[in-house]
Amino acid sequence: MEHGTTDIAIVGGGASGALLAVRLMHRMTMPVRVTLFDRSARPGLGIAYATTSCAHLLNTRAGDMSAFAEDPDHFRRWAGVTAGGFVPRQLYGRYLQAMLADAAAAGRGRLQIVADDVVGLRPAASDLILTTAGGASLAARFVVLATGYRPPAADTGLAWRRDPWGSDIFDGLDPAGQVLLVGTGLTMIDMVISLMERDHLGQIVALSRRGLLPRTHPPDAGAGAGADTDLLFAGRLSRRLARFRALSEAAGGWEAVMQDLRPRNGALWHSLDDRQRRRFLRHLRPWWEVHRHRAPPSVGVGLKAVIAAGQLTVLAGRLLAIEATGEQARVTVQLREGGRHETHVFDRVVDCSGARCDPDDADRLQAQMLRDGLMRADRLGLGIDVDGRDRVLDRDGVASQRLFALGPPTRGRHWEITAIPDIRRRAAELAEALLVGLAQGSAAAS
Ligand SMILES: Cc1cc2nc3c(=O)[nH]c(=O)nc-3n(C[C@H](O)[C@H](O)[C@H](O)COP(=O)(O)OP(=O)(O)OC[C@H]3O[C@@H](n4cnc5c(N)ncnc54)[C@H](O)[C@@H]3O)c2cc1C
Repeated sequence: MEHGTTDIAIVGGGASGALLAVRLMHRMTMPVRVTLFDRSARPGLGIAYATTSCAHLLNTRAGDMSAFAEDPDHFRRWAGVTAGGFVPRQLYGRYLQAMLADAAAAGRGRLQIVADDVVGLRPAASDLILTTAGGASLAARFVVLATGYRPPAADTGLAWRRDPWGSDIFDGLDPAGQVLLVGTGLTMIDMVISLMERDHLGQIVALSRRGLLPRTHPPDAGAGAGADTDLLFAGRLSRRLARFRALSEAAGGWEAVMQDLRPRNGALWHSLDDRQRRRFLRHLRPWWEVHRHRAPPSVGVGLKAVIAAGQLTVLAGRLLAIEATGEQARVTVQLREGGRHETHVFDRVVDCSGARCDPDDADRLQAQMLRDGLMRADRLGLGIDVDGRDRVLDRDGVASQRLFALGPPTRGRHWEITAIPDIRRRAAELAEALLVGLAQGSAAAS
C-alpha cells in the first residue's frame, strides 16, 4: 500500500497538539513537515476551549496563558486584555486557532491540519505508519500522542448526561426542574453558570465524596511568600502536610506558599515514591485539586450568591445508584455525615466528576496500541506510561525512539500537566528534542 509521508505526526489537535505544532513551526531551522490530526474538525479547541458560553472563564490569569513562555505577554497583547484578568475560554480557543493558522501560513505547506480520526499505528522499518478512519495512511518519522481526555461515556436517556461539555446538555430541561451535578469541581461550576445563563429557577444539588469546592483566586496576582519549600520535599506525607500548614501560617495564608511551590510542582511529585503517590491520590488529591485549580474571583462570588439564595446545595456523599427512566433519573446517595441513604428524583443529572486520561479500550487507536504492546498504562492508572523525555514505554517498559506523548495523559509522570503553562513548557522541550532527532537523522543519512 502507498503511504503519504511526514516528519512528525501529531495525533490530537486540542491545546496540547496545537501548542506543539506551533512551536515546531517556529523553531525549525530546516524544512520539517508536520501533520496534525484532529478527529473533531475544530483544531485548537479540544475539550477545554470549545465552550460556546462566554460566561465560562479561564481559571488562569491572561498573563499566564501565552503560547510562548519566552513571550509571556503574547496572549494578553493578542487579546487586548490586562494580564491579571480572567477572560472567556472561547477567546483563548480563538487565540489557539489563530496561532495554528499563522503557523500554517508561515510554514508554507509544511504544517498540514487533517480532520480525521487516527485509528491505527504500527512500526515499519524506520517509520511509524498511521492509518485513519477516512482511509488515509501516513508514514511518520516521529509520532506524538496528544490525545487528551477520554471521550465521555454514552448518555443514558435524556436525564443522565455523561458529557458535561456537550452543547445540548440542558436542552429540554424544565426551568423549574431539579438538577443533580455529580462532582463539585470547576466543571460543576461551569454547569451552574450555564444554568444561570438559562435563567434556571429549579433546585440544583452538587454532590461529591467530600463536598469540597474549588477555592478562588485572590483579586490580584499575589507574590509568593519566599517560603522555604525545600522542607516539603522529604519525609512522610503527614510530616510534609504539617510543614505545609506551618509555612502557610507563617506566611499568613496558604496561597503564597502554593505560589512559591508552583514552579516546583513537578519536582514535588518526583520526590514521592510510588506508595506515597498512591496515598496522595487516595487521601490528598481532592484537597490538592481545590487549592491548586482555583476559580476566578467573580465566579467565586457568583457561586456563593447561588448557594446563599438556597438554589444550590452542596452535598458530601457517595452516589450509590442511578436509574434513568425516560425523562427523569432516580438517584440514591449515601451521605458522608451519618451514612444515611437517600433517594431523590431529578430531571437532569450531569456527570461533572472530571475528565480521565487512562488508556481507553473504547478508543480504536489506543485499544490497538495496548493490544500490540506499543504502549501501556502508567502504574497509577492515570494515563499513558512515558519516561522523563515523554517517550512512550512499551508493554515491557522499553522507551520508544519514535513515539511520544504530550499533555494530560502523561499525568502519571509529571502530575501537573493539565494547565497551559505546564503543557507549553513540555511542548517546547519536546519540539526541541524532535527537531534535534530529525537533524541527526538527516546528518546520518547524508
Ligand atoms: C473545562 C476545562 C477548562 C480548563 N480551563 C483551563 C484554564 O482556564 N487554564 C488552563 O491553563 N488550563 C485549563 N484547562 C486545562 C487545559 O487547558 C487542558 O488540559 C488542555 O486543553 C488539554 O488539551 P489536550 O489537547 O491535551 O486535550 P483535549 O482537549 O482532550 O484534546 C485532545 C484532542 O485530540 C483529539 N483526538 C484524540 N484522539 C484522537 C485520534 N485518535 N485521532 C484524531 N484526534 C484525536 C480529540 O478529539 C481532541 O480534539 C481546562 C481544562 C478543561 C477540561
